[in-house]
Amino acid sequence: MSEQRTILAVFAHPDDEALGVGATLARYAAEGARVALVCATRGEVGEISDPALATPETLGAVREQELRCSCQALGIGEPLFLGYRDSGMAGTDENRHPAAFVNADFEEVVGKVVRVIRELRPQVMVTFDRSGGYGHPDHVRAHEVATDAFHAAGDPARFLDSLQDGLQPYSPQHLYYTAIPRGFFKNMLTHLKDMGVDAGPMGQIDLDRVGTADEEITVAIESGEYVQNKLRAFACHCTQLSPESVFSRLPEGVRMGFMAREHFVEAGVGATGAIKTDLFSP
Ligand SMILES: [Zn+2]
Repeated sequence: MSEQRTILAVFAHPDDEALGVGATLARYAAEGARVALVCATRGEVGEISDPALATPETLGAVREQELRCSCQALGIGEPLFLGYRDSGMAGTDENRHPAAFVNADFEEVVGKVVRVIRELRPQVMVTFDRSGGYGHPDHVRAHEVATDAFHAAGDPARFLDSLQDGLQPYSPQHLYYTAIPRGFFKNMLTHLKDMGVDAGPMGQIDLDRVGTADEEITVAIESGEYVQNKLRAFACHCTQLSPESVFSRLPEGVRMGFMAREHFVEAGVGATGAIKTDLFSP
C-alpha cells in the first residue's frame, strides 16, 4: 500500500507560490496529490498597489487572505503560516526587526518545518534556489530552512520534540529548487524587440547571469490548462499587482507558453541533459 502522493512547498511570502510553481501545484492537486504550502511570513512589508486595499498596519492580514484565495484557486490545501515577519528587501531597516524571519533562530524554524514533514510525509519538496530567485533575504532563508529540514526530518537524532509527540523520522525523496531558465529572458526580450516594445529596466539585465543556466535545469513541468489556475491565483494577490508589466504586453500565446512550463533543479542530482517531466519519478 503506497502512501498518498504529497508535495510540500516551502516559501516566504504570500504570492511566492503563484508565479514560479503555481501551475505545477495546481496540476498535481487536480491529479489527486495532496499539496501543502508552508509560508514563513504574511508579507507584512510588501508593496501596497492601491491604498484602498491595505495600510502598512493591515497588510499582513490582507495578504493572509490573498494567500487563502490563491490556494483555493490552485486547488491546494490551506496555507500553513510559520508566523514570522516579512524581513523586507535586502538593506532595508525592516531587516533588523526582531520578529523578522531572517532574525529567527535557525534551528527553531527548521524544527517547525521538520515537524510538518514528519506529519505529512511528502515524497516531494519544493522551494527557492540558493539565490532566492532574486536575492530577497526571506527567499534565501526559506531555501536554507527547507534544505536543512529535508535532510533533518529523517534523522532520528534531530528534533526529538516531534518524535516525542509520536511522529516518526521521515526522509522525503526529492527536493526541487524553482528555476527560471536564462533562455526565458532571452526569448522574452527577443519577442519584445521584434514587437518594437521598449523592455524598460528588463532590457538592462545581464543575459549571461540572470536566472539559471539552461543546461543546469533538470526538470520541466508542462501544466497545460492549469495555467488558468495559476493566473487566477496570481490575481488574488491584489496588493502586489503592478500595472502593465512588459511581460503583459507579449502576445497571449507566447505569454501562456512561458507561464505553463515551470522549471526546477533537483537538489543533489547533477544535470545529465535528460529532463524529468514528473516531480515524483525517480
Ligand atoms: Zn517573496
